[in-house]
Amino acid sequence: MPATRQRAIALIDGNNFYASCEAVLEPALLGRALVVLSNNDGCIVSRSAEARRLGIAMGQPYFQVKRELERLGVVVRSSNYALYADMSQRLMTILERWVEDLEIYSIDEAFGLVPRRNGADLTAWGQQLRRAVRRELGLPVAVGLAPTKVLAKLANRLAKADPTQGQVFDLGAVADPTPHLEQVAIEDVWGIGRRLSRWCRLRGIAHARALRDMPSGELRQKCGVVGLRLQQELRGHSCLPLILTPPPKQETCVSRSFSEPVRSLAQLREAIATYTARAAEKLRRQHQRAGALSVFVRSNPFNGTSFYSNSATVTLALPSNDTAVLLAAALPLAERLFHPHRPLQKAGVLLQHLQGEEMLQHHLLQPLPPEQQQRRAALLATIDRLNQRYGRGTVQWAACGLQPAWAMRRERLSRAATTRLEAIPRVLAC
Ligand SMILES: [Mg+2]
Repeated sequence: MPATRQRAIALIDGNNFYASCEAVLEPALLGRALVVLSNNDGCIVSRSAEARRLGIAMGQPYFQVKRELERLGVVVRSSNYALYADMSQRLMTILERWVEDLEIYSIDEAFGLVPRRNGADLTAWGQQLRRAVRRELGLPVAVGLAPTKVLAKLANRLAKADPTQGQVFDLGAVADPTPHLEQVAIEDVWGIGRRLSRWCRLRGIAHARALRDMPSGELRQKCGVVGLRLQQELRGHSCLPLILTPPPKQETCVSRSFSEPVRSLAQLREAIATYTARAAEKLRRQHQRAGALSVFVRSNPFNGTSFYSNSATVTLALPSNDTAVLLAAALPLAERLFHPHRPLQKAGVLLQHLQGEEMLQHHLLQPLPPEQQQRRAALLATIDRLNQRYGRGTVQWAACGLQPAWAMRRERLSRAATTRLEAIPRVLAC
């Protein structure tokens, strides 16, 4: 039989990613019940396997379960996004070495294209990959393999669900995928939203296998070509290619809830300045400039007083990613939106009309000499490098304020041991 050159799609996914990252920093946490909270220590967004076993639910508000967590001895951490983003980048760098093409799907998930020679079983490959990630990064991952993306997602789910699989499952190597597809509830099929799953349930379609085998015409009528593609993928015919270069962003937004209501203009200006500086930094990293900027504010919708929400937009004469230019545009908007008798709970800055850095058009009425522009770009690049190397806020814009009272609550934050020099653990040997 001639050798066939086939490819499998692997879906590689970090297990309990945020909680696992925390345990990498602090190995004493391994094997302990641990939860990570969302911004402002709001809700539970990640749980270690031990915390799951205790029955702690995802998305629970922290204040409701705080006592219970203490009683159970569960370790609680604020989200440390600098750490998770850095670990994610390291994970993706390792995965790139292991696959032909890589689509980074989310912070802890990626699709990869893997050669499958003569229909070989790739379980051993998956196990090797798991060991490599564990050895180099200390993170546990699960691997699902299949001929299509939808099936790879499903295989990944089965790899995690069945303890006998060892966190790797190759659906492309089993003789008959049907019984496996029957194990996955319709709600858990990738791409099936809540409305579509309800529609399926009403028709008695309870699992992935039933969706695969239902009449295509009916599915097409309900959700058009999207539904047909999903069904084709479940049948093993790949129609969703890997997306290797994400489309350039149209907008960039930085918004946060305040730890306590903001009542003064000075505080609001500091917050808006901080978000603007952060958004400008993002723009420079994406090699983009913004043509317009919006600021939005709102009060707490749940505290009984009348709700206040407002926004304002300004178009820039010349698209820019210079923090000083964006601050000059944003701060007057903050003044316009501030209301002395409306305590604010949340604010944000939205940068719009983004365009590539290489596309800069000159404005007839606002000439910017190229030398001046280069000097500004070099200055900003230096500031970004310093902040990256020595931690955010090393070089700070005065308008952002120092140690503001409104800043996000992160009372249980772990160290930034992979992104800040002073937080790197020290080992003493004598
Ligand atoms: Mg995950």
